[in-house]
Amino acid sequence: MIVGAGMAGVQTAVALRELGWRDGITLLGDEPHPPYDRPPLSKAVLLGAAGAGVDVRFDVDFDALGVDLRLGLRAQALHAEDRHLVTDAGPLPYDHLVLATGAYPVALPGTAGLPGVHLLRTLDDAAALRPVLDARQQVVVVGAGWIGAEFATAARQAGCEVTVVEAAERPLAGVLPEVVTSRMRAWYEEAGVDLRTGTPVSAVEPGAVVLADGSRLAAAAVVVGVGARPATGWLAGSGVRLGDDGAVLADDRLRTTAPGVFAVGDCASFPSARYGERMLIHHWDNALQGPRTAAANVLGGDEPYDPVPYFWSEQFGRFVQYAGHHTDADTLLLRGDPSTAAWSVCWLRGDGRLAAVLAVDRPRDLAQARKLITRSATVDPSLAADPAVPLTAAAR
Ligand SMILES: Cc1cc2nc3c(=O)[nH]c(=O)nc-3n(C[C@H](O)[C@H](O)[C@H](O)COP(=O)(O)OP(=O)(O)OC[C@H]3O[C@@H](n4cnc5c(N)ncnc54)[C@H](O)[C@@H]3O)c2cc1C
Repeated sequence: MIVGAGMAGVQTAVALRELGWRDGITLLGDEPHPPYDRPPLSKAVLLGAAGAGVDVRFDVDFDALGVDLRLGLRAQALHAEDRHLVTDAGPLPYDHLVLATGAYPVALPGTAGLPGVHLLRTLDDAAALRPVLDARQQVVVVGAGWIGAEFATAARQAGCEVTVVEAAERPLAGVLPEVVTSRMRAWYEEAGVDLRTGTPVSAVEPGAVVLADGSRLAAAAVVVGVGARPATGWLAGSGVRLGDDGAVLADDRLRTTAPGVFAVGDCASFPSARYGERMLIHHWDNALQGPRTAAANVLGGDEPYDPVPYFWSEQFGRFVQYAGHHTDADTLLLRGDPSTAAWSVCWLRGDGRLAAVLAVDRPRDLAQARKLITRSATVDPSLAADPAVPLTAAAR
């Protein structure tokens, strides 16, 4: 039994079959649509007039795979002690359970149901935003994170007037250092987006966003992109332990605290030996890799899960990729000039190991760094800082 028919749930079903699972697989999803991929929702689906025609469905033949796909069905509760779920359609027993319920976007307090206020997580959310772009409405985006930047990109391309408001002093403040985000600030400006940082929203009213400094921004549409939280409320009292961040606390085999129950994707955190900390990753690659480990372990394997995290973003005409994981204690190396079109940043551990890379339109840097990080390679800092030297040639 797999709960959640997004990327992680679907990949779990696929991996189970690939690894030889012969018994039944039920895949339960509460959305009405056939399972689909989310990254295009803030990119191809919104970009360009043809966007509405983009097919985001996963290319998976569930019948051929022998997967019993139950859509529009919600798991309401879990009784782990006698292995059954409570669903909208009554109880469903299972032998093994994989939790893949993903995350839901955090809303601004008091805005639920307010007309013109949008979130961007689902196909329906994206469909509701197309008319905003087609009508070139005046848009205020709340949150200068990955989703905010991607939506602002599409809205500007459509000809909307766009203001992005961010409570922190800079975009992606909790994720990337100033040397990187100061360039990203310039991307907003170059795209004609009015980016206002250090300005929390104090209220959203019909047709306007009011900021903490008293300024009032007219807004035909408001798009909120202030983060996501694991969709795990339904597991309260189930025996599956959750962290303070709401994530299922999985172990390094992606097992939960309930017997026979695993967890993958955006809904679960896991301890990383590689990075020495528990990680909650809300990126596509984690929803691809985790299921392979979970499926192997459902089948009786003993595989650890300790990936090198990877994600990408497409914003303001740029392809931004990140692999690894860095902390403020790591040494930052610029590879190239951030005021040019293509550049990268590397982070090194105290012992010279490559910890992470961010590549802006330098996919080769990303690909090479990812391999080096995976094998815990150390690099020569002066060679790694030279964009003319391939990163693999900087490895010691
Ligand atoms: C607009 C957008 C753009 C993105 N772009 C990128 C990108 O460029 N790069 C990148 O690396 N990542 C990107 N991501 C993140 C990536 O899409 C997610 O990490 C990935 O979708 C996680 O997959 P998941 O299966 O864990 O969760 P989800 O995709 O959230 O799927 C979970 C599913 O479970 C369902 N569900 C929840 N609760 C229940 C329940 N109780 N019963 C039944 N079903 C339930 C949900 O409705 C949902 O359909 C983007 C995400 C969004 C929203």
